[in-house]
Amino acid sequence: MKLRIPEHLLSINPYVAGKPLEELEREYGISGSVKLASNENPLGPSPKAIRAIEKALEKLHRYPDSNGYYLIKKLCASLNVGPENIVLGNGSDDIIGLVAHACLQPGDEAILPEPSFLMYTIEITGTGATPIFVPLKSLRIDLDGILDRITPKTRLIFLCNPHNPTGTIILKHEFERFLEKVPPETAVIIDEAYIEFVRDRDCLNSVDYLDSENALIILRTFSKAYGLAGLRVGYGIMPPEISNLLNRIRQPFNTGTLAQIGAMAALDDLHFVQKTREITHSGLDFLYGALEKMSLRYFPTHANFFLIDVGRDADEIFKRMLQEGVIVRSMTSYGYPQYIRINVGLPEENERFIKALKKII
Ligand SMILES: *Cc1c(COP(=O)(O)O)cnc(C)c1O
Repeated sequence: MKLRIPEHLLSINPYVAGKPLEELEREYGISGSVKLASNENPLGPSPKAIRAIEKALEKLHRYPDSNGYYLIKKLCASLNVGPENIVLGNGSDDIIGLVAHACLQPGDEAILPEPSFLMYTIEITGTGATPIFVPLKSLRIDLDGILDRITPKTRLIFLCNPHNPTGTIILKHEFERFLEKVPPETAVIIDEAYIEFVRDRDCLNSVDYLDSENALIILRTFSKAYGLAGLRVGYGIMPPEISNLLNRIRQPFNTGTLAQIGAMAALDDLHFVQKTREITHSGLDFLYGALEKMSLRYFPTHANFFLIDVGRDADEIFKRMLQEGVIVRSMTSYGYPQYIRINVGLPEENERFIKALKKII
């Protein structure tokens, strides 16, 4: 073909998502498998969201509200920010892309921890900017290491709190020291996809710093604690200068009617979020205890997922676990060839995971 392809796009490795559950089961000849690979909510969707969505089906011939007026209004009330501070997205992934395009041009640099969520690299590279990777230190984001890599070309810094895939957090005092040293021309994204699971009171709550001199962009999602990953709805909290830019480049209908209505109902379902937290924390206690009895090393988490050092090839463990009907995530492509990542499941799913792991290790 004679197309002139933007060179920088060729360096992107496409996001590798898992096969559909049904297909995996067919391939491996298993059924009733347990999926602990994508940090999803084992309780299912918020029941209030399901009911609200069912009721809204009749309205599907209409375009969604492009401004997400009611959902944004509800978010403002709970976050104590103004509507000019919020941009809705087709999942928070959408906001990551919008922010990258709003902040980065070819020649610019964006700093991110390594390993971290793969979408950051994809979106940075997609703009033609250069990703600058700063390795984690003891599985935690190395804030000093990030400061050391700032240059006049740095336009954007990615933080993730709690961090995926390690489950570690940034403490308030660490963040304050860090932010003081970031030049005001550099924006900082803080991805808080798992913030609802955090119990540590010293954990950074970045909304408190929205008034800082730096442009802070905080990402939240309905995909995890609210159990709505399939609905695709997330949002960013940011200064109006940034939301103004994002509203110029986003698709006018980037959140659908069902997504807006489901998210609103989920926000009211405090009971569901509380139950999610409880089942996560009791599940972690069970899993930690069982792994200790097996003398397997694991890394305590602040989120709903954690890393386990299986002491052998993680890709191999992934395949063997799959044959047992348990889907885990191998961390090989994240640079941890002997670690797997699992999320907490229902009590019976956690037990099945441990039973399968005992069998194959
Ligand atoms: C799951 C996850 C998200 C959420 O993505 P959505 O597009 O909102 O589903 C964002 N960031 C990280 C680090 C995640 O793990």
